[in-house]
Order: sequence, then structure tokens, then C-alpha cells
Amino acid sequence: MTFEDLKLHRNITEVLKEENYVAPTPIQQQAIPIILEEHDLVGCAQTGTGKTAAFAIPILNYLHPIVGSKNKRKVIRTLVLAPTRELAHQILDSFDTYGRYMNTKAMVIYGGVNQVPQVNKIKEGVDILIATPGRLLDLHKQGFIDLNHLHHLVIDEADQMLDMGFINDVKKIIKLTPDNRQTLLFSATMPAAIRELADQFLKKPKFVSVTPVSSTAEKVNQKVYMVQKEDKRKLLIHLLQEEKISNVLVFVRTKHSADNVVKALKKNEITAEAIHGDKSQTARLRVLDEFKNKKISVLVATDIAARGIDIDLLPYVINFDIPNVPETYVHRIGRTGRAGNEGLAISFCGKDEVTYWKDIEKLTRQQIKVVKDNPFPFREYTEEEKTAKQNDRRNPKKQNTGQKPAGTSNAKKASNSKKSDASKKNKKRWY
Ligand code: AMP
Repeated sequence: MTFEDLKLHRNITEVLKEENYVAPTPIQQQAIPIILEEHDLVGCAQTGTGKTAAFAIPILNYLHPIVGSKNKRKVIRTLVLAPTRELAHQILDSFDTYGRYMNTKAMVIYGGVNQVPQVNKIKEGVDILIATPGRLLDLHKQGFIDLNHLHHLVIDEADQMLDMGFINDVKKIIKLTPDNRQTLLFSATMPAAIRELADQFLKKPKFVSVTPVSSTAEKVNQKVYMVQKEDKRKLLIHLLQEEKISNVLVFVRTKHSADNVVKALKKNEITAEAIHGDKSQTARLRVLDEFKNKKISVLVATDIAARGIDIDLLPYVINFDIPNVPETYVHRIGRTGRAGNEGLAISFCGKDEVTYWKDIEKLTRQQIKVVKDNPFPFREYTEEEKTAKQNDRRNPKKQNTGQKPAGTSNAKKASNSKKSDASKKNKKRWY
């Protein structure tokens, strides 16, 4: 299938040519015709599959004749709900890109920043509103948002909305929209709560699904270092310096850990910045921009902050910590090797993370190559480390300001217990 087969408006196909999109991705092949025919849709697809274009392109195609000239009065005709500010910005970029030869106007709103500039922009008129749920409800309550003319409602990364506790807000928002809307729901996984949401609010939806989470992992080159936990920073610096690896996204479990890793890298004259929940939105966008423009070579991120980050041609992902929810691993490594590009995912597995690692190999149905040429393998603790550990045990408060202590019993518990619960707890406490 080609984009010509989809009979899209010329102003859109022109952009796709300029963007060097040769053919629609599998999710686009399946979803675009369904959306053009105005059916509701449930799409099981994660970032990296081209899902944003899968809904943005047919929505723009629908809006083009309606929006008309620049001077026509604008009303919100499309609402896209996204769990994070970063994802909201990525979606805005997509609408701006694909709609660059059209008169559609898109904007984002999210919390944590002054509402006044957002309200002023809404008052100027907008066709496509991309929003995180909390701010949308807030501004709607204040009377700044009129959803009565809405045609398309998109709920993106629904499973993340659920994980982040936004699902009730999403339900409230759906109830504010007209009954005759077209609803598109995308989610990387389909937990029962998301299926129920679809049953309750979508009308005879068509279902499409691409690259189940476990098969994405097959496309990315992966290797693992079995490394002493205390030596992980040294190993990271070694790889960055000796192997001349740059343009790397490093995943860590906690924000403290992110800051500590960045400090260590900077000490070794490696340009690095952290991106996590404690950073202001302006700081996050600046860092992301610098990383994209290769002004900094390492971006250290927590999972939540990294959600929705879309960086083309990202060659390396390093898992500094092994996630205790195996699906998170697949999401992380999905950041590399996108749209057919080569990618390498390197993981640092400590002794206390081996249980998590086994869960990952089980989910991905792969035995990932263990690097033999490893300068920092498992070893006995030095006397100094033993004393430090004893002090930590005596003074657990101090320990809490650092990385999450992932003891073996902890690891076992997490791997045996319900994974979504583990994930939720983990997120609440540590991100
Ligand atoms: P997404 O899954 O929406 O995050 O998209 C992942 C990346 O794939 C983005 O950088 C898009 O620009 C890119 N992309 C989307 N559709 C296509 C396509 N048909 N051909 C090539 N690249 C694409």
C-alpha cells in the first residue's frame, strides 16, 4: 500500500513526500482507512509504530475542507488527550508537520505552568486541542473550553493514563463531548480497565493491533553487562569514553539516581542532563532540544519523563537500572531502532536485578547476549563498601535519598506479585 492509495488531500501527500515517508506503516495501513470512514477505533500500538500519524493524517484530511480559509472562525473540532506534557508536544509537532499546508491551528495545554498564555491562545481560536486531562478539566470548568463542536476525540496511550491515575478524569472529559463524536483510542497494552473504557464509550469500534509488545524487542540489537551495582557509573563512563558511544538515552529508576549519574558524567567531562518529574517544563523542553541538536551527548531519564519522547535515529539506549516491570524494558528499548533504523540497547544488570532480568527474557522470548569483555563483573565487596553498606543499614533515611534499594527478596516479591500493582507502587514512590 502507498499513501496515494489512501486518497488523501494533496496538501497532505505533499508533506509526506517531503518528510520522505515512502509507505504507510502497518498501523497506518490499518487505521487510516477506518478513521477516514468515520468509524470508532481501538488501536493497540505503542510509540515508534507511527501511531501519531495514523490518527493525525486522517483527522487533518477530515478537517481540511471544514476549516476553510484562514479567516473563518475557529472552534475546537478535535481533542487529543495525552498522559504527559512531552507526549502532548510530540503530538502537536505531528499535527503542525502534516498540516503545514493547511489552515488548521493546533495547540497544547497542560498543567504545572501558568494558564493565562494557554487561555489567551484558546480565545484566539483553535481547531485541534491537545491536552493532558487535569488542565483540560480545569479550564473547561472555568468556561474557557467549548467542546460542543467536537468531531474527533483521541485518547492516546490510554494504558499510561490508567497507570498515572487519570482514567476518571478521562471518563469525565468524554462525558463533556457530543454523543455524535468519532472516538479513537490508542494503547500499547489492553488491560481490562481500558477494554471496559472502550466498551462503555466507543460505538461499534473497529480493532487494529500491531507489533505486540514482545515482538518489538526482536528488532533491536541488545546486550547485557552483568555488573557489580557499585561499578555501574564506572561502566557507563567506560562505554561512553572508550567505545566512543554518544547520543545516548540512559534510563534510571529514580530521579535521585538520574541526578547522581549526570553529576558523575559531568565530572568526567561528558555532556549530560537529566530529565525527570522535578524539572520544570521549560527545563525539560530545553534539555530535550539540546539533546536532539547534539549539544549534549547523554540524556538521563526516568521512565515517566521519557514517555512520549520521540527522537529520530536514536542509536543507543542504556538501561542503567533494570526495570522490575518487564514491559517497561520493551518500552525503553523501543526508543531506539525506530522506523527501520539500527539501534542498540545495552543493559546493566546488578546481582540484585537478575530476577527482573529473567522476567524480561521470558517476556521477550529471547536470551540476550551477555558481554564477556566486561571490565566490571560481579565481585566480592571491598572492606570500604562493606562499611558503607553497614552504615546505610544503620541509617536507612540516608539510603532513601539515593537509589531504591532493590534487595533480592524485594525482587522476588515484585516478580511474583501482580506486575501492574508493582508498577503503580513504584511510580508513586519513586518517580
Ligand atoms: P510514533 O509512533 O507516532 O511516535 O512515530 C514514530 C516515528 O516514525 C516518528 O518519528 C515519525 O515521524 C516516524 N514515521 C511515522 N510514520 C512514518 C512513515 N510512514 N514512514 C517513515 N517514518 C514514519
